[in-house]
Amino acid sequence: MPKPTPETLARMKDVVGPKGFVDDAAEMAPYLVERRELYVGRAAAVLKPATTAEVSAILRIAHETGTAIVPQGGNTGLVGGQIPSGTGEEVVLSLSRMNRVRALDAGNNTLALDAGVTLAAAQTAAEEAGRLFPLSLASEGTCQIGGNLSTNAGGTAVLRYGNARDLVLGLEVVTASGEVWDGMRGLRKDNTGYDLKQLFLGSEGTLGIITGAVLKLFPRPQSLATAFAAVPDVASAVKLLRVADAVSGGMVTAFELVPRIGLEFVVSHVEGASDPLPDVSPWYVLIEMSAGSATAGLDETLEAVLAEGLEQALLSDAVLARSEAQRADFWRLRETLSEVQRLEGGSIKHDVSVPVSAMGAFIARATAEVTRAMPGVRVVAFGHIGDGNVHFNLSQPAGADKAAFLARWGEMNALVHGIVREMGGSISAEHGVGQLKRDEIAATKARVEIETMRALKRALDPKGILNPGKVV
Ligand code: FAD
Repeated sequence: MPKPTPETLARMKDVVGPKGFVDDAAEMAPYLVERRELYVGRAAAVLKPATTAEVSAILRIAHETGTAIVPQGGNTGLVGGQIPSGTGEEVVLSLSRMNRVRALDAGNNTLALDAGVTLAAAQTAAEEAGRLFPLSLASEGTCQIGGNLSTNAGGTAVLRYGNARDLVLGLEVVTASGEVWDGMRGLRKDNTGYDLKQLFLGSEGTLGIITGAVLKLFPRPQSLATAFAAVPDVASAVKLLRVADAVSGGMVTAFELVPRIGLEFVVSHVEGASDPLPDVSPWYVLIEMSAGSATAGLDETLEAVLAEGLEQALLSDAVLARSEAQRADFWRLRETLSEVQRLEGGSIKHDVSVPVSAMGAFIARATAEVTRAMPGVRVVAFGHIGDGNVHFNLSQPAGADKAAFLARWGEMNALVHGIVREMGGSISAEHGVGQLKRDEIAATKARVEIETMRALKRALDPKGILNPGKVV
């Protein structure tokens, strides 16, 4: 891609005005690095348009001049998709000023908003109308709806409500040539040909810029029940999930796996965190159920699940949250698992999925093989086990050299992803492809699948200006 000329940048600055144009190195710096500092890029400028019309005008100039555009939301992505390359030729397009809630249609149960609204603000807008927008991630205070939709984010409520792509009825997209596609429809049924919005959802900014969305809302739960249970192994945890499904009749909202080592990391690093159970167990699950009615008797239902689990020897002990504070304590044990690994030295991450029924076999085999390859490695496998999605993370052996450990990232990825492939799984369950996994997906998908993806990319972005070097 050619470096944008001073004239091109001046034309873009005219579109967004001085408030929306950043080319000072210090001011650009936060947009050029992601939180783990795995990717650090350079850019010719950062543009912060305030309206869809401004995004469209920028894309027209970019298309005409062949300028590469890197869309960026809250910059919480974990695969480097939102970070420009090191060439300094690309322009970052931040949606952060497009943060308006457009309309809440209570009768239609939908929320229309700009793509730069944070996930937390979208949740609050729904809550203020007595509704629920169920997408929930630990990064929700910072990540934006546009980023969530572009990565098809998952999170902790997928089990009940689906991924981000299941929560969208309409989209507004600016195409690579600057045209605006107004697909802000709030229809629950619409079979008029190809479902275009699904192409843009999960495309990580490589096919178009999402500028607005119509999201589905749900009844706000009136009651919640949460438990922290000790389970002997992962296979038992999966069986317990099926017991919970059957006993509750589909009330389970979250079912999250916590390993003993992860709990120990949290207890030693997070102030106020403590082990909720008296005896040590190799694994735990955090189970949450929700119901629309305040009189659903959820605590009793969850107690019945736990009793059945004990009876079948699927768990050894459990505690039910008796207050909001205790519920928050349980969730903190789960939500801080990522963060505490940073305090234990280097960590090599895998965001993978396999069929839920294969979860136990996958974790057992992958643990045995990485431990054989790297004695002393500390496996911290946790997360959305109810969706068959585990963050199979490796913390460096205690006292090992961090750089030497991280130098084995590729080797460990190849080993773990090889097992995932053999088990019919995915090497990127919810974080996307970005730069991190771009070269690997070619080995994972069938030739026809990759060629179809490339053909779509060429059709929608013939000059290759949208987020080059990412995904395909
Ligand atoms: P960014 O990081 O800014 O961008 C992500 C990608 O989307 C990039 O490719 C970018 O180019 C593209 N993009 C952004 N906005 C647009 C737009 N408007 N139009 C077109 N393309 C765009 N993810 C999960 O799925 N589940 C989790 O449970 C989860 N937990 C996390 C916990 C923590 C602590 C952190 C730091 C991250 C977590 N993530 C999780 C990853 C991340 O938060 C999600 O991928 C999130 O959806 C990214 O949103 P963002 O606004 O930060 O996007």
